[in-house]
Amino acid sequence: MEAFGKHLSRLIDQVYFFFGVLVKVSLLTLEIVLRIPTLAIHLDRQETFSFNKETQLFPIAGLVAAELNRQGKTEESEKPDEIPNGASEDFKPLKAPTERHHPYVVELIAKEAGVDPSNIIDFEMILYDTQKACVGGLNEELIFSARLDNLEMSYCSTMGLINSLKSPTALDKETSIRLISLFDHEEIGSRTAQGADSNMLPAIIRRLSVLPADSQGLTLDDLTDTVTAYEQTVASSFLISADMAHSVNPNYAAKYESDHRPEMNKGTVIKINANARYATNSPGIVLLQEVARRKGVPLQLFIVRNDSSCGSTIGPMLSAALGARTLDLGNAQLSMHSIRETGGVYDVEYAIRLFESFFEHFSELEGRIFVD
Ligand SMILES: [Zn+2]
Repeated sequence: MEAFGKHLSRLIDQVYFFFGVLVKVSLLTLEIVLRIPTLAIHLDRQETFSFNKETQLFPIAGLVAAELNRQGKTEESEKPDEIPNGASEDFKPLKAPTERHHPYVVELIAKEAGVDPSNIIDFEMILYDTQKACVGGLNEELIFSARLDNLEMSYCSTMGLINSLKSPTALDKETSIRLISLFDHEEIGSRTAQGADSNMLPAIIRRLSVLPADSQGLTLDDLTDTVTAYEQTVASSFLISADMAHSVNPNYAAKYESDHRPEMNKGTVIKINANARYATNSPGIVLLQEVARRKGVPLQLFIVRNDSSCGSTIGPMLSAALGARTLDLGNAQLSMHSIRETGGVYDVEYAIRLFESFFEHFSELEGRIFVD
């Protein structure tokens, strides 16, 4: 059982690449195959819920008896008589996936991908809760779901962008580029090639900003202009960093600053922190208030207690990398990072309308916010 578990834990902990080609397999359509069982409380009456990440988090995929009764693939041992001089056709620098991982798991992935297990050179696998989201509460005003942080703001910003383009004349007078950027890896620090703490967004904005709107009839002067196009773009841009916020939890009300206790379904929350754990400042609040007013979206403010730790977002790191004005906001939710989080139904609609209004009105409002 232990070796069985070891195989599976490797699947979760490690990420494999091979020559830049990546086989990504989703287990979405499969039945539930793995579960991490907790120890029954009767066997260890601990006050806090703690566990050893190395030894107590192995998922269980089945029982050993079933494994023994099955004609599974066995490991092929190859022992060359002598060290080969050059690479032969069947030389493999790494063992096959079916030897490194449990063959059952590789077979499941192969079946899902519609290929033979021997054709799988490598893969990445991530475990997640398969329970579907649902709406609940006495008036169906709550959402119970995994990963509201931060799929909810990803969804709202995407819908806001789409809605802002509904009218065929939406872009007729537009002087800005409407752009959303959804990043991987925020929960592990964002310092990856495609994370927010990389050069990806600045590089994309740089490339977009030097593209001529109309390449016909360009003069030499127009071309010289593109030298500082990126700096000009960034200086006149505004970044909204949208990540979920904390609603006041009635069971722990004292954990919140007494005048800043956001509630679910009362509008999007602007996050403020004097130590710049959030990137909000007052010109941003002025702009966002006007954006929200135009679509009737209520807003709330969140400030963490001075004696409390504070979360952070990608807002400060992107703000620093770009030098662009930035504001941090998000919808209020409970139980952030729990496997089952709780959010407000109406806040989804509020945030969509807020983003829609931002995209529609930013170009017009941008030049009207002055800081003396
Ligand atoms: Zn988070």
